[in-house]
Amino acid sequence: SVVVVGSFNVDHVWTVAALPRPGETLSGQYRTGPGGKGFNQATAAARAGAPTVFVCALGEDLGGQLARALAAADGLDLREHASHEPTGTAGIYVDHDGRNSIVIGPGANADLPVDFVESQRGAIEGAHVLLAQLESPLASIEAAFEVARAAGVRTMLNPAPADARVPASLLALSDVITPNETEFCAQLERHLGERLDASTVAALDDDALHAWCRRLLPHGTVVVTLGAAGCFVSHADVALHRDARTHYRVAAAKVQPQDTTGAGDAFNGALAASWALRPEAAFADHLHYANRYAALSTERAGAAASMPHDADVRQRFG
Ligand code: ADP
Repeated sequence: SVVVVGSFNVDHVWTVAALPRPGETLSGQYRTGPGGKGFNQATAAARAGAPTVFVCALGEDLGGQLARALAAADGLDLREHASHEPTGTAGIYVDHDGRNSIVIGPGANADLPVDFVESQRGAIEGAHVLLAQLESPLASIEAAFEVARAAGVRTMLNPAPADARVPASLLALSDVITPNETEFCAQLERHLGERLDASTVAALDDDALHAWCRRLLPHGTVVVTLGAAGCFVSHADVALHRDARTHYRVAAAKVQPQDTTGAGDAFNGALAASWALRPEAAFADHLHYANRYAALSTERAGAAASMPHDADVRQRFG
């Protein structure tokens, strides 16, 4: 099974001709739906076929009710801290060029106590993979990773959003990290004091990228997601991951993207699910599956709602 520790948000999205300026009132086409990196990734893991536990904090409000209903519909095993804060929200304006302005109200997501996470010890110890992102309190994520590490459960950290601070102690507890190019640069700057930009990273050859990954996470595996270029992986221990090579790229699946929001979340959930379901398979197979799964998610609008089912992935790509 997969345990995800993370956020749930109600996303409110307005599509507008131009992003609003101070003092301006606009009208735009409105839609709402579930989001939050934690919930998106948990939904992806469940729809990819893995029994999935989602550890989060929800408010006593309509957002909390929505989360419970959606979790039940997807068969997610919800482990909810009942917070006095409002359920997390995101207000998103998107213009016709796809640019956006986003305000997040973390609310309950910032109120996930360490002792609540530790009370889920049984679920974590029984899992194959523990997956977390950085929209929850770092101390709570670290507590979960410590439980997992002590039990020999694999830990996977998606270091997103890029501006969140990852303590060195959390990196040390991570078996696999999965930054996109921007998040990779943020980690290089924070932990190695090196300033690279995403376009520089995109232009690096495999050996150079591998060298950066080895410096960033000497003991573990780094997966850098590269959007339409797929992903790159760099291992400390190839045997552990049943791979033949220390580092390589896996090309993306060819699709017609409509909305790439949540592609990273789809990738992470699917990677964790594939790894948990087939621990004996080569890591390359899991990356291949995660690429296909994430590519298919970009053909649909929405965050958690756009996550495909395993059957859709198999039908589409064979
Ligand atoms: P994020 O959504 O976090 O910015 P990426 O843009 O790197 O992350 O996308 C994550 C994954 O989604 C990629 O590794 C790839 O598998 C898939 N993906 C993203 N964009 C495309 C695309 N245009 N075509 C095919 N696959 C894509």
